[in-house]
Amino acid sequence: MQNSRAGSGERENRMVDCLFCRIVSKKVPAKIIYEDERILAFEDVNPQAPVHTLVIPKKHIPTTLDIEDEDNALIGHLIRTAGEIAKGKGIAERGFRLVVNTNPEAGQTVYHVHIHILGGRHMHWPPG
Ligand code: AMP
Ligand code: ZN
Repeated sequence: MQNSRAGSGERENRMVDCLFCRIVSKKVPAKIIYEDERILAFEDVNPQAPVHTLVIPKKHIPTTLDIEDEDNALIGHLIRTAGEIAKGKGIAERGFRLVVNTNPEAGQTVYHVHIHILGGRHMHWPPG
């Protein structure tokens, strides 16, 4: 069976040249707002809402399709921390959106799993 990530430029990102792995290792600067042994949260460089924070696992997982059984607790921790960050930023009660883009048609540009925390303005539905 063909490798689903073979031969498509950016989607071939490996840990060594992955932007978000480089943020994890502090080789690329970011405005980090939360860090523990498993995950990192930092402000999106091109915010699409008054609050736009990214939460990522430190482990290099290219897309949601690459999440394995052993990652279940990690992904749970990621989502729960996203909620805690939303609370801390004062947008939890008003409402906020968690977005995880997967593959090109959804708009994924960085192939290291990340949750977008978006809030501080009214969110539209359906999303664009
Ligand atoms: P996605 O399009 O879902 O893959 O999201 C990637 C996100 O990463 C976009 O919202 C970008 O604005 C954001 N981004 C790209 N480079 C950086 C960076 N160096 N620091 C912070 N956010 C970034
Ligand atoms: Zn990575």
